Amino acid sequence: MEQARQMLQHHFGYDEFRTGQAQIIEQTLTGQSSLCVMPTGGGKSICYQIPALMLDGLTIVVSPLISLMQDQVESLRAANIPAAYINSTLTAQEVNETMQLASAGYLKLLYIAPERLESTQFLQALSYLHVPLIAVDEAHCISQWGHDFRPSYRSIQKLFTLWPQKPTVLALTATATPAVCDDIRQLLSIAEDSAVITGFARENLAFSVLIGENKERFIKNYVEKNKNEVGIIYAATRKAVDALYELLTRFGVSVAKYHAGLSEEMRMSEQDRFLKNEARIMVATNAFGMGIDASNVRFIIHYQMPRNMESYYQEAGRAGRDGLPSACLLLYASGDVQTQRFLIEQTQDETRISQELAKLQTMVDYCHTEGCLQNAILTYFGEVPEEPCGRCSNCNDGREVNDVTTDAQKVLACVVRMGQKFGKTMIAQVLVGSKNQKVLDFGFTKLSTYGILKGQSVKDVSNFIEFLIAEGLLAVKHGTFPTIYVSEEGKTVLMGERTVLRKQAVTVRKL
Ligand code: ADP
Ligand code: ZN
Repeated sequence: MEQARQMLQHHFGYDEFRTGQAQIIEQTLTGQSSLCVMPTGGGKSICYQIPALMLDGLTIVVSPLISLMQDQVESLRAANIPAAYINSTLTAQEVNETMQLASAGYLKLLYIAPERLESTQFLQALSYLHVPLIAVDEAHCISQWGHDFRPSYRSIQKLFTLWPQKPTVLALTATATPAVCDDIRQLLSIAEDSAVITGFARENLAFSVLIGENKERFIKNYVEKNKNEVGIIYAATRKAVDALYELLTRFGVSVAKYHAGLSEEMRMSEQDRFLKNEARIMVATNAFGMGIDASNVRFIIHYQMPRNMESYYQEAGRAGRDGLPSACLLLYASGDVQTQRFLIEQTQDETRISQELAKLQTMVDYCHTEGCLQNAILTYFGEVPEEPCGRCSNCNDGREVNDVTTDAQKVLACVVRMGQKFGKTMIAQVLVGSKNQKVLDFGFTKLSTYGILKGQSVKDVSNFIEFLIAEGLLAVKHGTFPTIYVSEEGKTVLMGERTVLRKQAVTVRKL
């Protein structure tokens, strides 16, 4: 390990390994296949780059993103490390030249896109090389349970039998639930005790969820107040990105935009403007960001709720990679749920829809939890958090705690009376005593729970229902449309066995 430390200093200019790095490197050098789960910015690359330098032969790095490969190879070359990549941007001639360099022993690292492994010709060319190590970046892409499954990742398994001796494998990811970790380990034959999972907590990030804001106004004020700060605003659709871009431009903010509807050329130049700090704000869909190493991002705003916790943590995690305090703000409106639901139903194949909708529900729950947000994230990723973070909007929420058990019982009872087969809005309408045609058609005016929350708005009651879902007292069933039923825990409230506490309702600013 002494030699590894010298490499760290010599090639990268750092004195000490960070948490997890030394262990991963040691395992890798001794031929033990490993899984490395580290937060974004934790320093995963060095975990395979240093072994690549120390091992005889060529390390192959499988990476899903072209831009990421190019950046990595450039910075490796700048550090005097012979590296190259092969992907769809190269001509056949360039591919040949690179393979020749590799077989002549001039390269230590070769980055490849997973699709390459579908070519038998390419596999044959590889089989003549000496490959001691295969690094699998963004390893969650191999798992169907992950949020970014790429079938071509399964071809990595072909590499296991290509040589007389199976190379050591190092799988790396920043976002993996326990189920995804198990899947990665199984598919890549990594022993359970070879997983190195460092904490997910990012001590410099302060999470906030804001409900009921005028989003445009909020963003305008925030951007004005943080005049010199670099930030990324994520929106769910291209249309929303375009609109926000227009809006901020009109306010005189230097802003760039990025989404899959723009030409490759335009995307590159917008990304460049942002990375060179010519534009201080980037407005983008989730197409932007993977592999972008902008360390000075001070805030990430989600203009709409993303579709699952994995995406959220990955995107929010792009703030503060330099370790300085940074903010991650999520602007929630109930319409976001419909937007994401629509996107899921449009893009996912049949078999994955219910799974994706369940993940979406977890995201909605996150937006309505009243506990520590950082801890909610950690719990989702399978960690057992110790203390509240003290930085998030819930930890810093001075609102009073109220006993809302009676109201909760009214809602739960109403859900039961309505047969547990309706959605949030319908339930809220019955509770406030609405004369909506559908309410009348179903004969709900005759229920004893009809109008028992009279005087409250449908919106407030809907929010209260969301809160009860986040608390696990109500649950959502995703059929043709989402329906709500009382959970086992909810039944204990109905039977008067437990109380329900809620922080005083958010006062929505009148605009
Ligand atoms: P990840 O892939 O986990 O998101 P990177 O490998 O890109 O993270 O590393 C993030 C940053 O941390 C890079 O700028 C890298 O040079 C730096 N870094 C990595 N290891 C160390 C270390 N031991 N000491 C200081 N900085 C480090
Ligand atoms: Zn907190």
